[in-house]
Amino acid sequence: MNEPRKLYVKSFGCQMNVYDSRRMADTLAPLGYVETATADDADLIILNTCHIREKAAEKVYSELGRVRRMKATAQAEGRSLVVAVAGCVAQAEGEEIIRRAPAVDLVFGPQSYHRLPGLLARAERDGKAIDTEFPLDDKFDHLASPSLAATRSRGVSAFVTVQEGCDKFCTFCVVPYTRGAELSRPVDKIVAEVEHLAAAGVREVTLIGQNVNAYHGEGPNGRPWSLARLIERIAQVSGIDRLRYTTSHPCDMDEDLIAAHRDLRALMPQLHLPVQSGSDSILAAMNRRHTRADYLEVVRRLRDARPDLALTSDFIVGFPGETESDFAATLGLIGEIGYVGAFSFKYSPRPGTPGAEMENQVAEEAKSERLQILQGAIDRSQAAFNRRCLGRVFDVLFERPGRHSGQIVGRSPYLQPVQVDAPAALIGEIAAVTVTAIASNSLFGALTQNPLQQPTRELVLLGAGA
Ligand code: SF4
Repeated sequence: MNEPRKLYVKSFGCQMNVYDSRRMADTLAPLGYVETATADDADLIILNTCHIREKAAEKVYSELGRVRRMKATAQAEGRSLVVAVAGCVAQAEGEEIIRRAPAVDLVFGPQSYHRLPGLLARAERDGKAIDTEFPLDDKFDHLASPSLAATRSRGVSAFVTVQEGCDKFCTFCVVPYTRGAELSRPVDKIVAEVEHLAAAGVREVTLIGQNVNAYHGEGPNGRPWSLARLIERIAQVSGIDRLRYTTSHPCDMDEDLIAAHRDLRALMPQLHLPVQSGSDSILAAMNRRHTRADYLEVVRRLRDARPDLALTSDFIVGFPGETESDFAATLGLIGEIGYVGAFSFKYSPRPGTPGAEMENQVAEEAKSERLQILQGAIDRSQAAFNRRCLGRVFDVLFERPGRHSGQIVGRSPYLQPVQVDAPAALIGEIAAVTVTAIASNSLFGALTQNPLQQPTRELVLLGAGA
């Protein structure tokens, strides 16, 4: 039997890329590739790149500098090392990557990773291979399924891609260009994947998509299903106790989805709902298709449905034309909503997007200053939320051992990490925990009951306070 070949996949960016990286590993498993935790002894290195963050392409090129040296060492030792660049930077840069980084053998975009075995063979035969097409076939149909053992080794919480691409064309964003038009997977394929996860012991599923609440996949009746209907169906899969979804656009938050937050116990009371700015003129320049008032109205309806809903968001500061008063409107919105966390960035132009062509770019110093102020406001809002959690009882899904012996770490319904002194046998279980202390980014707690000794378990209903 041949020696297994070692695969090292490095994911940059969002959960979509983490999910894609796992599916690439699944696709390569039948060829004898086994994942390894470090790049040092790998036979194949895949950099699965992201184009959302600042200077994304430059970061990839700098990483490729390190990989080039590793390839030279491997060649000197008589080993071969294949280097691949995948994901959104690969899609956007294409051949330019091989021109600037000749150590790269393979470049392929997010719609092509199911064709990896063929691409590897092509790279071996021809020296290089590039695939950045948007094929019409559904790549998910061609992907290998992981074994139950492989799935089990990945933990009790899993991502499932239900939708890809975006039709919104926000003026700062490359996703519609790198990931293409919205595509939703059929309901039966998603349900089968979730059933497989449940059989492997997964308790929590996060449905992911670039614009996940625009989901409109084909249902068993041949007609499109909404995300709300899909969530309702998945909540019926035995063994799945917790559901989340991300990332949502405020305009696609329909009544059924809002009602699901009221009606479905498995749907966790935490939602990432990007707003980007609190100023109407900036929202219009960003082509976000909603106003500040529209966003507040969506939040009001969500909180009517689920009063303890904890909201997180994305913000961009220093978008072209942003004045001090626009920025003050964003700060005002943060105070009004009381976010429990956020991703925030200085605007940086992405080539090919309308924002990059706008003339009224904001000075770098102003962007840095605003970002610092905004992050301070978010931190204070998050700290206030954490303080309100002190003394409360949450159901915690335990995911992994803690850093200290005798400690395990799980997640609250609001996605906060919770550290508890408890036996490792509780990993994979949900247990009620009293929050006894808080840190800036996590909570500490004590078990109020041990589900291993007490098999009947009730979810704890939480009061308002997000
Ligand atoms: S909705 Fe999200 S993914 Fe789509 S263009 Fe806007 S920021 Fe990008």
